Amino acid sequence: MFYVGFCRVCGTGPLGLRSCGACSAVVILCDECDAMWTDADLNAEPSSSGEGDSLCPLCDGSLIATPSRWATEKDLESVDWLQHALQQRSLQLRRGAPFAIDIRPSKDDDEA
Ligand SMILES: [Zn+2]
Ligand SMILES: [Zn+2]
Repeated sequence: MFYVGFCRVCGTGPLGLRSCGACSAVVILCDECDAMWTDADLNAEPSSSGEGDSLCPLCDGSLIATPSRWATEKDLESVDWLQHALQQRSLQLRRGAPFAIDIRPSKDDDEA
């Protein structure tokens, strides 16, 4: 999975990039508490506190059930707010495994 830091709500969860299986929207979802943000402004209150089902803000589909999944590199290429934040360096993209975070910087640094 790709993640952009750690959740300030629960303090421990990685903030993964989740791809909605129904509409392909990409949101930031805490792997631990399911708090959700729909854009790069992580200082804002989360769109969802993580209580109850995590639903896609665009189509109300479940972000947890398949075919929703962690976004791939290819998914992320078309996410404008994410690419913008990465260019501005307000977010940093890291790669790790869900619930087993690999803190090392990714080997293949994808400088565009
Ligand atoms: Zn969290
Ligand atoms: Zn959706």
